[in-house]
Amino acid sequence: MSDLKIYNSLSREKESFTPLHEGHVGMYVCGPTVYSDVHLGNCRTFVSFDIVYRYLQHLGYKVRYVRNITDVGHLEGDQDSDAEDKISKKARLEQLEPMELVQRYTRGFHHILGILNTLSPSIEPTATGHIVEQIQMVQQILDNGYAYIKNGSVYFDTPRFIKDHGVYGKLSGKQVEDLFTETRDDLKNQDEKNHPSDFAIWIKADERHLMRWPSPWSVGFPGWHLECSAMSTKYLGKQFDIHGGGMDLQFPHHENEIAQNYGACGCMPVRYWMHGNMLLLNGRKMSKTPDPVTGKSNSIGPMELFTGQNEIFTKAYSPMVVRFFMLQSHYRSTLDLTDDALLAAEKGFRRLMEANKALQAMPHPGKGQPGALDKELNALIGQIHEEMNDDFNTPKALAVLFELVSKVNSLKDGHLPFDQVAEETLAKLKTTFHDFIYDIFGLKDELEGGQGNGALEGLMQLIIDIRQSARANKDWATSDKIRDALKALDIVLKDSKEGTSWVKQ
Ligand code: AMP
Ligand code: ZN
Repeated sequence: MSDLKIYNSLSREKESFTPLHEGHVGMYVCGPTVYSDVHLGNCRTFVSFDIVYRYLQHLGYKVRYVRNITDVGHLEGDQDSDAEDKISKKARLEQLEPMELVQRYTRGFHHILGILNTLSPSIEPTATGHIVEQIQMVQQILDNGYAYIKNGSVYFDTPRFIKDHGVYGKLSGKQVEDLFTETRDDLKNQDEKNHPSDFAIWIKADERHLMRWPSPWSVGFPGWHLECSAMSTKYLGKQFDIHGGGMDLQFPHHENEIAQNYGACGCMPVRYWMHGNMLLLNGRKMSKTPDPVTGKSNSIGPMELFTGQNEIFTKAYSPMVVRFFMLQSHYRSTLDLTDDALLAAEKGFRRLMEANKALQAMPHPGKGQPGALDKELNALIGQIHEEMNDDFNTPKALAVLFELVSKVNSLKDGHLPFDQVAEETLAKLKTTFHDFIYDIFGLKDELEGGQGNGALEGLMQLIIDIRQSARANKDWATSDKIRDALKALDIVLKDSKEGTSWVKQ
């Protein structure tokens, strides 16, 4: 159906993509743990897979995209036992029902991803909504002899699994011996585990745990890794095409998912494993977890960046500029969030959107004959698709699109001859720009923060100017009235050395 190649983290090679069922793609992406607001690092991963989803659809596939919400079982420090559940803990601290907390942060997550113009997945299952399926899977693993029960908890038996199947460690590239020594020091509850690399798939709830369900083994809750195994199997089958997530999930989360699926169903679940690389801030992975030395977490919330209300960046950047910035690097490369890079992205984004506007408005003179320029344009159009087919290479596809932007600008200025462009080439150029900008890259015209085009931008500039004059005349009442009225409309003004910018929240 296509020439798409995907880098498979399991084989560590680019492989031709052939879905299990012709014309259909099943894709599972690990969703957020909804115990706090998402940071921009999380957003990067979801934007990367949004591009994958969009491009697969552009290629004509019918995609079932499943992205879960983790609302139970993800323990502090990513431990698999003997630590408090992140959601349980936060709910206890904030004196909320766990589901109150879950709803709040799920809504926040959807809000931010909406602002970043990502498409909703086809199914968004929650872990707490699939306890029955998880209990069934634990039972299957037990029945197949790959798990054992200790004091009401159930542990996956890794040595037994390795002996029978040998696939444990393959995804993360860890040697089995390393795994054993690495995990030994971390885990405190060695008394319950037969082996240090075993992990909990059902955990007996202690008195701290607010969320608990009856099971054949104890009143407890499922292990974090288990939910993705159970929900991907339920909605996509024992085997499916693509499984994605951030690189930090490769081990132990995805390694354990493979073990559980294999342990329950007897086959490798995923045909193409895809991992997105990390968003960095100041050269370090963006993370909510506080630094043990400084006590500060290295992260920035999307809203803080969009409104400019932060101590890190000199100005506000609009959601579409941020999305464009993310496209400028390949999903498997790290990406460092800096002022310079965001400023460059802002310029690039505007240049692209302006060229598109000019292109779409270009009438064809009607006498174009295919010539050298025509050939060149067609070659570039073909190349954009090739770059995307090469493991979703958005930076290279963008670079080719910008070669076309130069051509468009030259055509507009009369530096390139229109009469060398056939009518169908111009039409193809228009469709290519439209498809890539809006459908595949998921960009939008209006810049919600900062200078967009059109009437809204003009009106906002007028309001900002009136407020500026009021301030110059020390008419604080009018200035405050404008700010407050805008705030009521969720429009925030941000004053800086460069002037006043605005953002719609
Ligand atoms: P969590 O809510 O911690 O389970 O993470 C949700 C998703 O965000 C996972 O796919 C993580 O791999 C991903 N993620 C976490 N931190 C970053 C980061 N700094 N850059 C990119 N993705 C991240
Ligand atoms: Zn997962």
